[in-house]
Amino acid sequence: MSERKVRVRFAPSPTGPLHIGGVRTALYNYLFARQHGGDFVFRIEDTDSTRFVPGAEDYIIESFKWLGIDFDEGVSFGGEHGPYRQSERRDIYRQYVRQLLDAGKAYIAFDTPEELTAKREAVQNFQYDAHTRLEMRNSLTLGEEETRRLVEAGEKYVVRFLVEPGEEVHVNDIIRGDVCIMSDILDDKVLYKSADDLPTYHLANIVDDHLMEITHVIRGEEWLPSAPLHVLLYRAFGWEDTMPAFAHLPLLLKPDGKGKLSKRDGDRLGFPVFPLEWHDPKSGDVSSGYRESGYLPEAVINFLALLGWNPGNDEELLSMEQLIELFDLAKCSKSGAKFDYVKGQWFNREYILKADNARLAPTLDAILREEGIEAPIEKVEAVVGMMKMKKINFIKELWPLCDFFFLAPKFDKEDKFTRKNWKDTAAADMKALRDLLASLDDFSIESQKAAVDAWAAESGVKPWNPWRVCLVGTGKGPDMYELAAFLGKEETLRRMDDALAFFAE
Ligand code: GLU
Repeated sequence: MSERKVRVRFAPSPTGPLHIGGVRTALYNYLFARQHGGDFVFRIEDTDSTRFVPGAEDYIIESFKWLGIDFDEGVSFGGEHGPYRQSERRDIYRQYVRQLLDAGKAYIAFDTPEELTAKREAVQNFQYDAHTRLEMRNSLTLGEEETRRLVEAGEKYVVRFLVEPGEEVHVNDIIRGDVCIMSDILDDKVLYKSADDLPTYHLANIVDDHLMEITHVIRGEEWLPSAPLHVLLYRAFGWEDTMPAFAHLPLLLKPDGKGKLSKRDGDRLGFPVFPLEWHDPKSGDVSSGYRESGYLPEAVINFLALLGWNPGNDEELLSMEQLIELFDLAKCSKSGAKFDYVKGQWFNREYILKADNARLAPTLDAILREEGIEAPIEKVEAVVGMMKMKKINFIKELWPLCDFFFLAPKFDKEDKFTRKNWKDTAAADMKALRDLLASLDDFSIESQKAAVDAWAAESGVKPWNPWRVCLVGTGKGPDMYELAAFLGKEETLRRMDDALAFFAE
């Protein structure tokens, strides 16, 4: 078994947008696959047609593309184990259902939903199992002939797994160790429904994991209760030798740690729980996404990677390559991970600082256009470079900090910074500085700095704060030489003249 090539899968049901917990599950599968030079398969588990949501599949694919999590095989990627959409695999499942029926490891049951409800009402804690199956309407009680007659007459039926009582079932979980239960607590799960000629999740999941040669099943903790049944199904098919190893990941918890993270927590506290914005096709509701909220994908990846695992030291900023190298499935935590979204914002800030300004500029440019400002993209890029180290987590927070690069300042005598810095000598000093700057042919940062610093030293004038009043109108912005060089000589002098005129009144 250890010689088998590592193959893992992410197998979402297309029932809506991908929850951020699902993204974390996919990421851990991806890291594990890449670390072992294995394959990563994308399977769509769409056997429950009642929960199908149009657009969900495309949404999931687009999410992973944005995040840089790539698959080797699967829906939209191709491969030799297809089709990868379960609704296209009916013939395959039918064959395996038949195999279990022929071996006496499953049986046909005709109980209607009404009959089952009545039974549940009559018998407390009713479970369809070894103790009760002989009281029900199924092939075990009706006999082969009557069963065939009913099936041929078109009566709706299900196929149930025959769980033998009194057996110990061990799930060998990489994160949780040996999880052992008695088979008695399991019910005879439905594996197939004739009504839609489709298997249930359990059968399709096992058959596909087997046929797709999956070696490790890495999935959310919510699937742990299904795992014993999956182990029994592997046994029933005689596939013990190729049974995948299991790893059930810890839950993502609310930021305060009290309970499971939900969409409502995101709405309440103002953070997205989906990778991309989602437009619900039925209700028309729009849910925010990490992409549209201004997160960089590598920040989301880094943040999620550390929710449930860490490299065992204080290192927090880890690239995908480093994560692939360091990730250790066996060291994932058993207990839930608090969804510290503020930390997520911090990661975004760190990745903005690292990112190429050319990559960030289009985001600011879009905001400028909304404000009716058209600036050459090199200028926008330069502003991002000068301003991104200010305390921002998102590029969109730059606009109120950098409007003066693009718009002439509005002077205000009551502005706190202005009152403090526009003193009696300010007008004369600014006039002198204006004339000095006007005399410069070279308006570069270095040239201005040399001239102005020399004049300031000689005259004892400290021109920087009143100069800031002239160019910005208040106490914000980058270094004055940087700003003046960005504005250029003409605009710098114009703003200084405007300020002198304004404060002369
Ligand atoms: N279709 C299941 C889901 O939606 C897959 C569970 C599994 O990975 O086995 O998450």
